[in-house]
Formats: sequence, C-alpha cells, structure tokens
Amino acid sequence: TESLASRDPDIAEAMRKELGRQRDEIELIASENIVSAAVMEAQGSVMTNKYAEGYPGRRYYGGCQFVDIAEDLAIERACKLFGCGFANVQPNSGSQANQGVFQALLQPGDTILGMSLDAGGHLTHGAAPNQSGKWFKAVQYGVKRDTLEIDYDQIAELAKEHKPQMIIAGGSAIPRQIDFAKFREIAESVGAYLLADVAHFAGLIAAGEYPNPFPHVHVATTTTHKTLRGPRGGMILTDDEALSKKFNSAIFPGIQGGPLMHVIAAKAVAFGEALRPEFKTYQKQVICNAQALADQLHKGGLDTVTHGTDTHVMLVDLRPKGVKGNATEKALGRAHITCNKNGVPFDDEKPTVTSGIRLGTPAGTTRGFGEDEFRQIGDWINEVVDGLAANGEDGNQAVEDKVKAEVAELCARFPLYPNL
Ligand code: PLP
Repeated sequence: TESLASRDPDIAEAMRKELGRQRDEIELIASENIVSAAVMEAQGSVMTNKYAEGYPGRRYYGGCQFVDIAEDLAIERACKLFGCGFANVQPNSGSQANQGVFQALLQPGDTILGMSLDAGGHLTHGAAPNQSGKWFKAVQYGVKRDTLEIDYDQIAELAKEHKPQMIIAGGSAIPRQIDFAKFREIAESVGAYLLADVAHFAGLIAAGEYPNPFPHVHVATTTTHKTLRGPRGGMILTDDEALSKKFNSAIFPGIQGGPLMHVIAAKAVAFGEALRPEFKTYQKQVICNAQALADQLHKGGLDTVTHGTDTHVMLVDLRPKGVKGNATEKALGRAHITCNKNGVPFDDEKPTVTSGIRLGTPAGTTRGFGEDEFRQIGDWINEVVDGLAANGEDGNQAVEDKVKAEVAELCARFPLYPNL
C-alpha cells in the first residue's frame, strides 16, 4: 500500500524528472515513441507477477488461464496487423527476436548477409562486436555511392560469391522503402532464408503506409516500441507453420525463460490501438511531418541522405555546414531538442563524432505536432546548426537559449500525460 514516493523517494524523483524531460523537450529520436496511458497501465500491472514458461494452453506452470488471454490476443492482433499466420510475441527485445530467428534457422559458422552498420543496418545484422558478427561469417552490403539507396546489385553479387544461409533486409537508418520482392529473388537464387527486420517500419506497415514484407519473406522481426507505439519488446512473424514451430522453440526454451506477461499484455493493448482507423491517420501524419521537417532543413542549407524521406526517419548530412554530429547532438540538447548523432554513408568521421544526426517524427506526431510545428522545429535546428557553424563547438548561446524558451512554449501547447 505504501506509495513509491515514500517507499523509494530516489527512484520516484528520477521518474518525476524523466516525465518532466519528456514533457518539456522535443523528442526527435527516430526509434522512440510515446505510449498511451492504457499501454502503461497494462505494463505496470499484476501480470508482472506471473511465471508462464511455454505458450498459451501449453505452459509449464499452473494458473496461466488469464495471462493466456493476453498472449492469445496479442498473437491474434499481431497476425491481423501484418497479414501473416503466426506470431511469437515473447521476445524481450528486438535483438532477442533476431537471436531467436538465428537460433532457429542457422548453425554457428554459417554465413549471413546483412546491411552494414555504417550504411544504416543494425548491430544484430552481423556487426563485428555483436554476437551475430562473432558466431556467424557476416558479409555486409551497403548503399550506392551516387543515390545512397540500397545497392541491390551488390547484394546479388555478394550472395552469389558467399552463398549465405540467410539474407537480412532492414536497418535503423533507412529513409526509403525497401524492395522485399527483389530481396526474395536474390535469396531464392542462392537458397537463403530471407529475414526482414522491420523494427523501424512496423507501425507504418501495420497502417499500410510502407510495403509489407509478406508474402516475400520467410520471417520478419520487429521491435514493438518504435513506430508501432507499444511497450519495449520484440516479436517474430511468419506465414510458414513449420518455421513458426522452430521460432517458438528457439525463443523458449532456446534463448529465453519466463515471458514478460505484463509486457505481452501491453503489446496486446498497443496492437489493438494499431488496428483502429486513427492509427492509419497517425502514420500518414508521421510521414508528412518527416517530409515537412526534411524540406525545412533543406531550405536552411542542410542536406538529408537521399534528399528526403518516404518514412518517419531522415539522416541529416551536416557537411554542407561544416559541423559534426556529436557537437550538433549536444547543441540541440542544450536547446531541449533531443536527437542522436549518426554516421552518414561513406562518412569520414569516427562513429563517436559523425557527420550526421538522425531525426524522426513518431514521438512528436503522437504528441500532436503537425507539419507547421515540424517546420518550426526545422527552423530551430537550422538556427542552432548555424550557431555551431559560426562559433565552433560551443555554438551560439543566445540562439540556443531563445530556441529553448520557444521549445518550452510549444511543448506547453501539447501537454503530455496530463493525468500523471
Ligand atoms: N533491429 C533494428 C532494425 C533496430 O533498429 C533495433 C533497435 O535499435 C533493433 C533491432 C534492436 O532492438 P532492441 O533495442 O529492442 O534490442
């Protein structure tokens, strides 16, 4: 019965400050979003107390009849959203969803072909420090130098040369649509499994605003907390019953123990929200907002990789202004605009410095920002970046203070979690 504030004032205070940060600052990290109060209520619920190893109707513990309802609904809604037959909603994260797929379909020492980190891929697609790069022979593809779009010719050549057991489509900084049919054609030509990791695009796909990987892929993985706007977690999707059994065994008992039933309940709530018509309107707005933001940055003299976006995300190329990603991330942070530094393809700067920043619109759009607000945010970014260009890493403090005050006004007009 004791409140958090009296039981653990230090944690309560950290939570209060984090709520304040989310309320008062503009969140442009492309992989983040703002869940509904209903999703948080499900996640902070009694389902956290339950052990439920196994799957609905076949558990290794008693008393699972009610958590089974949550998991069955999560699975049913996930399949409806993505137009596939089978879903495993137990992966604790996007990384574990990918590990589960590897465990099910590969042997240590097999060859995988994924997008390189510097071109926009994810660590789990074969990057050297990740398990996927240590336990498999990882071959990496990139983007074309002229268009900065995925280089399908290179993928076909690398596939022919290295005969991978699996090809991975997807990544964390890809602003344009992926041609899943083309990927499948290449995978077929060498007898490889095709995995689409749609972590970034899942919400857009669910809303019909991005190409669906089905029926082209053998399996798709995703996180549930990015554009899909659910709790932090992962999921594996397939249309192939035989493969679905392998994925289930790979997640449990392969790499995980008891599933996080409170998170699965929250996933079910988020998927239910994503099935509503408002979710389609939201995702359309996410894309319009990203296009408005990119356009405003172009007007200010910045470039974006592929000069625009079809999605929620853009990679801003800061080189036209001669400033670095790390300094820009810090300067925008001082003005209460949050983003992350990110290498651009063929970047000459170290990953700790970079020539770019990655920006996304999912969180701001959830908050209610439209194109006018995102054009305003674009102007603020241009001003802060110009301050860095003129004054070096310290930036222009007067401009940053002015932007911070204007950011506070904008945020106050779009209140977050008014009942917390
Ligand atoms: N796959 C892609 C494409 C991602 O962008 C991410 C998130 O960064 C992941 C996988 C990993 O997800 P998580 O951070 O939940 O492990």
